[in-house]
Amino acid sequence: MVKVNEDVCIGCGACQALVSDVFDLNDDGFAYVKDDADLSKYEEEINEAIDNCPTGAIVRED
Ligand code: SF4
Repeated sequence: MVKVNEDVCIGCGACQALVSDVFDLNDDGFAYVKDDADLSKYEEEINEAIDNCPTGAIVRED
């Protein structure tokens, strides 16, 4: 499972730009993981988003 920590996200949009089928920005400008996101399909892109998030806001949880 993947989550975005809203307290840490600065809304830069990098994750959304990288894999818009998984990440979107909410009305407050913070990223979230879409409910219908196919996480297994985008494993590689999600890892890239985690590596590239400037604040480390994207975290994996079991
Ligand atoms: S890359 Fe990180 S800081 Fe930027 S919008 Fe996504 S979660 Fe937020």
